[in-house]
Amino acid sequence: MLDVIIIGSGCAGNTAAIYTARANLKPLVVAGKEPGGQLSLTTLVENFPGFPEGVDGPVLVESMKQQAMNFGAEYIHGHVVEADLSERPFKLRIDHEWFETRTLIIASGASARWLNLPNEQRLIGHGVSSCATCDGFFYRGRKIMVIGGGDSAMEEANFLTRFGESVTLVHRRDQYRASKIMIERARNNPKIRMLTNTVVEDVYDAAQHLVTSAKLRNLQTNEVWEEPVDGFFVAIGHIPNTSPFIGQIELDADGYIVSKGGARTSRKGVFHAGDVQDRTYRQAITAAGAGCMAAIEAERFLEAEGH
Ligand SMILES: Cc1cc2nc3c(=O)[nH]c(=O)nc-3n(C[C@H](O)[C@H](O)[C@H](O)COP(=O)(O)OP(=O)(O)OC[C@H]3O[C@@H](n4cnc5c(N)ncnc54)[C@H](O)[C@@H]3O)c2cc1C
Repeated sequence: MLDVIIIGSGCAGNTAAIYTARANLKPLVVAGKEPGGQLSLTTLVENFPGFPEGVDGPVLVESMKQQAMNFGAEYIHGHVVEADLSERPFKLRIDHEWFETRTLIIASGASARWLNLPNEQRLIGHGVSSCATCDGFFYRGRKIMVIGGGDSAMEEANFLTRFGESVTLVHRRDQYRASKIMIERARNNPKIRMLTNTVVEDVYDAAQHLVTSAKLRNLQTNEVWEEPVDGFFVAIGHIPNTSPFIGQIELDADGYIVSKGGARTSRKGVFHAGDVQDRTYRQAITAAGAGCMAAIEAERFLEAEGH
């Protein structure tokens, strides 16, 4: 029987592990299929406090893990496939084995939706991004492309005009899903060019490890062309990694965990941390802060029970 299991080894899970390990709770961290989480996909992180020269994303999350292990956190490779949170102790099936725990911290993140272009994954962190707040700064005076038609695509396109020489907003339909006000804001921004009925067929140039252009197709005319671009931002949404918890704790319509204040979920003893609940900020530092909150709540919860 464990005191705490932490699901996820991104910034939220690792920070929760540091705090719970220092509280002597001997946390077990389930690393998941993406050890290190989303930061392991990127290169330079310039906005995590404490690193004036920036820090490599994978190095940052690995350092957090080392810090947690130094205090006694245990990490296992594995993926939570099933959970029974109906009564305590909570039961989790990690691959083929069941584990029991008094408290649970869910820090399983939200995965960006990608376009599944032939070269897209190879260029993530090298010009392909899913986060304007994180990477916009790298494209000062450069050509930027944003893909999507919802509010977040409009917001990212507007935000990116602070940096880019131009922003081309590419959408496959002729109508946008975004709210009227966001569409108007984008339309009125002189730096934004809006291309509708247009799909991206690929992004280049994987051989140079650098985005240089995107291949586009107009769905009405079938015209295909290559557009020079330096920063390629995919803004077609995120998928919260909550499938094992459907029906176990309260989730919103999109599958994000509904917070009941602090780091609490609808189930006592189950806490949330990071992007799995936060659809607004989605940053390494906010995820780390949320991991700290979840750990303190788990610790106090156990203490109140006399553990
Ligand atoms: C390309 C890119 C660049 C970014 N750059 C920056 C940046 O410069 N600055 C910044 O602040 N933020 C940046 N971000 C955002 C930042 O990475 C996220 O906000 C942060 O990683 C969220 O942390 P998290 O721990 O909540 O989730 P994640 O990092 O998504 O980690 C989730 C973890 O949960 C695990 N998991 C998922 N499902 C299961 C399961 N069923 N069982 C077990 N484990 C599971 C995964 O394996 C993973 O380890 C970037 C994101 C991307 C994609």
